[in-house]
Amino acid sequence: MTSAPPLTGPAFDVLSRVFGYSGFRGGQHEIIEHVIAGGDALVLMPTGGGKSLCYQIPALVRPGTGVVISPLIALMQDQVDALRTLGVQAGFLNSTQEAHERRRTEQQFLAGELDLLYVAPEGLGSHATQRLLDQGRIALFAIDEAHCVAQWGHDFRPDYLNLSMLHERWPDVPRIALTATATSATREEIATRLDLTGARHFTASFDRPNIQYRIVGKNEPRRQLLDLLRTEHKGDAGIVYCLSRASVEKTAEFLTQQGIAALPYHAGLDAQTRASNQSRFLREDGLVMVATIAFGMGIDKPDVRFVAHLDLPKSVEGYYQETGRAGRDGLPSTAWLAYGLQDVVQQRKMIETSDGDAAHRRNLGAHLDAMLALCETVQCRRAQLLAYFGQAADPTCGNCDTCLNPPESWDGTVPAQKLLSTVLRLQRERGQKFGAGQSIDILLGKTTEKVTQFRHHELSVFGIGTELREQEWRGVVRQLLAQGLLAVEGDYGTLVLTDASGSVLRREREVMLRREPERTRAPRARRASSGSGGAAPAADLDAAGAAAFERLRAWRASAAKEAGVPAYVIFHDATLRQIAALQPGSLAELSTVSGVGENKLAKYGQPVLEALAAG
Ligand code: ADP
Ligand code: ZN
Repeated sequence: MTSAPPLTGPAFDVLSRVFGYSGFRGGQHEIIEHVIAGGDALVLMPTGGGKSLCYQIPALVRPGTGVVISPLIALMQDQVDALRTLGVQAGFLNSTQEAHERRRTEQQFLAGELDLLYVAPEGLGSHATQRLLDQGRIALFAIDEAHCVAQWGHDFRPDYLNLSMLHERWPDVPRIALTATATSATREEIATRLDLTGARHFTASFDRPNIQYRIVGKNEPRRQLLDLLRTEHKGDAGIVYCLSRASVEKTAEFLTQQGIAALPYHAGLDAQTRASNQSRFLREDGLVMVATIAFGMGIDKPDVRFVAHLDLPKSVEGYYQETGRAGRDGLPSTAWLAYGLQDVVQQRKMIETSDGDAAHRRNLGAHLDAMLALCETVQCRRAQLLAYFGQAADPTCGNCDTCLNPPESWDGTVPAQKLLSTVLRLQRERGQKFGAGQSIDILLGKTTEKVTQFRHHELSVFGIGTELREQEWRGVVRQLLAQGLLAVEGDYGTLVLTDASGSVLRREREVMLRREPERTRAPRARRASSGSGGAAPAADLDAAGAAAFERLRAWRASAAKEAGVPAYVIFHDATLRQIAALQPGSLAELSTVSGVGENKLAKYGQPVLEALAAG
């Protein structure tokens, strides 16, 4: 996308006056002008790329109210509070609100007093809401988290399917759909389902250069996590994703016992606990949220320093979306995933037993395969991730584990044949199926109880695999599963051959495998953020500046508490740093800092100057 920095016009006026920013980022300007002119748009931009301005500014420039459709009911209050802090008139309608609040918001909308109105997708389906919208003036529809309409996607919301009616009912109102993740197939699905095929499509680079991607072999996941947090992320805020509610609970408890402030979040907790944990995560510093993927969409906390996965995500889209919650402020952050054989077995089993028809299962399988390919690659993770979203990248990024600590690839054809023929013999000669453990014991020639019981020491493959250690064999099994050369079946994850296994057994194909590097911890490359990914790089402060920054932070903490909003809603760290570096002596000088708009200047300008002067 191209954009020349505009210095005049209504969009620029709103940008500088309301938001206090001095220029547009990436494709923002082009998108904003397109929507102001009444055009429809489909916007793909990474998390932290600045999607909100793409609909907020047109909503403020065009006559009427911008109606934002968002699935994030629990975050609407925060979003509205943040806008009000900027002096924007905003409200929301959703099922959590009391009748009188709802009536007041409806009246404000009808009176033309609202710039922005957030509505839950299920709410839009009701006739009452539709009639209400008919009676007011709508500036635009913004469909946030638009990937929720993708039926086989990781965040599917059935209510999103009804949103194609927006165009039928209000054909003259421009629509802008936004998402931070989409392959070209998903993008087509979004466009079709939302009736946006005629819309202009804007696609920004999905690269998040400040995020360091790392995928490590899983052996003692909680210990490995603890090691990561203690050595690299002491006192940092972060998110730990687990597959099941039980492991969320256990992991949160474990971290707490180890002296790390951690909270659980999953769909099994009551709504109040969930809301309170989410609110604490947003408001307090340095909390670790241990969660299922039910948590995180729309979380706009800028200083999440790490996202750790203790279980394998189901798709690359999901992985990208979840890891994208790290480092919205553009500062160095870590995306860390621990992954092992059991993950593959478990996920394949889940697919096999999932609801839906064969096509649905094939689709889930294809998503998992892409995720496994990312885990097993010996190439740059970032390059592979971007290629998955159809974007070209440098072949090496210098800020992922495979770039920092390249793994070797080795010819694993012979071990693969040994393993596959063990599975084959068990099945052919004995009519038996076993899990990975038994096959590995046989290859290693271990006379375990189970080996003796089933007389597996009499098999010709017994003890033919002593060249590899047990852990290495598990790696072979995992990678054969990932490559589709082996499959798992049934409740116990028993190994079975696939159509492709034969070509390996007949020596018709080579099997290249990844050898795990000995060291698991990658050195941290401090890469500065590039413009597209996040906020301004933190200004380096001298001693006086650092002291001023601390005073400003203390002031911000009390102001946030008083207003009942997260600290970053008042001012971001980046803004406070700039203020601390500049040490402005007047309101006029303070207003030149990025992030200080008209309303915040009027509200907080004086206290900020006082906090500075107190030093
Ligand atoms: P997204 O919704 O794409 O994840 P946001 O809209 O929340 O991202 O923007 C990320 C951060 O960048 C926010 O703090 C926002 O205020 C800031 N931002 C967005 N556009 C600009 C800009 N043109 N100049 C400076 N900061 C910006
Ligand atoms: Zn890389």
